[in-house]
Amino acid sequence: MNPTCAEEALKIRIRDINPHIVCSLCAGYFIDATTITECLHTFCKTCIVKYLQTSKHCPQCNLKVHETHPLFHLRADRTLQDIVYKLVPHLLENEEKRREDFNKSRGVVTPKKPGKKTEIHTPPKLSTIINTPDGHKFAQDEHICLCLERLGPQERSHCGQRVPLRQLEKKFVRCSIRVLISHLKAMLHKKLSVPPDLKFDILCDDEVQAEETSLKQIYLMTWYGKEIPMVLFYRFATDDDKVS
Ligand SMILES: [Zn+2]
Ligand SMILES: [Zn+2]
Repeated sequence: MNPTCAEEALKIRIRDINPHIVCSLCAGYFIDATTITECLHTFCKTCIVKYLQTSKHCPQCNLKVHETHPLFHLRADRTLQDIVYKLVPHLLENEEKRREDFNKSRGVVTPKKPGKKTEIHTPPKLSTIINTPDGHKFAQDEHICLCLERLGPQERSHCGQRVPLRQLEKKFVRCSIRVLISHLKAMLHKKLSVPPDLKFDILCDDEVQAEETSLKQIYLMTWYGKEIPMVLFYRFATDDDKVS
């Protein structure tokens, strides 16, 4: 029997999309899709991490990825992974089942001893991570999850106009730990439609952070050991932006 037009169209779409959601190392659909930032080729996290232990080059295009730090140029691609899970039926459930079984098997290897606390680490369910807006904070690679909160007066006069300081629509932000305060300020200008000559302060723990400070520095100096997300506050700069 001929498939209906709709079925035909769907088949074509999935077939066309397959090359973009299949890992060339294991030939399976991406699990924890991870992209090499230098060439943007994507693999499963475990596949590429393992591969780069013995090679310095991208398995797909042979570009030299690293000299000594195999993980430095890898980034989790959550958007792509979400797409894969949405496109491929049961992949998410199967992967969760696999991880649960794996944990159970580890639980069997280290049996409970009476009077002793068991230290079996149960990672959060993947579906929890994917389906909650701030769930991505569980990822641990070179990214950090931030919460950006508004602080101080909610408007400011500027060139004879009142400029409101709005709340970010999405205050949870995931970004690279190499992002600088100046990048965050540029993002705020864009997202909050604030004139570029009206400056922001970004604070962590009541301290105004310098433009060239990276999130990694702030994390290590101020936030290490505290709960994620790291909370940063933004406000209109208090002085008249005179750089001395
Ligand atoms: Zn793979
Ligand atoms: Zn590549």
